[in-house]
Amino acid sequence: MKVLVAVKRVVDYNVKVRVQADHKAVELANVKMSINPFCEIAVEEAVRLKEKGIATEIVVVSIGSKGCQETLRTALGLGADRAVQIETEDGVDSLAVAKLLAEVAKTESPDLIILGKQAIDSDNNQTGQMLAALLDMPQATFASEVVVENGEAQVTREIDGGLQTLAVSLPAVVTTDLRLNEPRFIKLPNIMKAKKKPLDVKTPEELGVSVASNVKVISVTPPAERQGGIKVGSVAELVEKLKNEAKVIA
Ligand code: AMP
Repeated sequence: MKVLVAVKRVVDYNVKVRVQADHKAVELANVKMSINPFCEIAVEEAVRLKEKGIATEIVVVSIGSKGCQETLRTALGLGADRAVQIETEDGVDSLAVAKLLAEVAKTESPDLIILGKQAIDSDNNQTGQMLAALLDMPQATFASEVVVENGEAQVTREIDGGLQTLAVSLPAVVTTDLRLNEPRFIKLPNIMKAKKKPLDVKTPEELGVSVASNVKVISVTPPAERQGGIKVGSVAELVEKLKNEAKVIA
């Protein structure tokens, strides 16, 4: 069984994101970039399927500038077998990403495609869903457990206030939620091995996909600065401030 995993390079989740002075985007210069955490979970899940003898090959794909080769090497270090970079500018919109992934899927013919539920930079939460629609495949989003047997995937999904379990016939698209697994640390020998694994570079033109977008970011605004707190001397003072300053009680 072949598994295709889409991995995105994003600002590391530990970095305090700063907005550019022109409010058009977040600052990426000299910022630590990493594999999107949900994509790391997706790779880990594929590797576990391979360790169980269910998956035989794991192909990872990333769309973006040359820097995303580093992200692909991380995925190869985690245990993927082969990587494909589709060289574009960073920030290609979700529909174009889904179209490019669909073309890769058509040549690779995977039995299972795993994506993160969301990229933590754009928070779009739509690429997996678009990809499933373009490929006319069943989808199971927000997976917290995946069991593959008898030509189908049983996927437990985290939904509001509970869990739902679906069975989707393969090939299918699955997107990962946070509790699906805890990705392993990459051991040094695996980092060395990852450098020798195949990494192909393709262009959108070669895949016959236009990455022109109908979506334009108008502005990006940081959250309002929080004011410092104060210590009050008594309950009476607290009630007085809640009533007259914060005006949250009558
Ligand atoms: P999004 O819909 O943008 O929140 O992203 C959801 C998932 O789609 C990510 O976790 C990735 O698995 C995949 N994805 C989004 N953008 C890219 C990209 N540029 N390259 C590879 N995978 C991507």
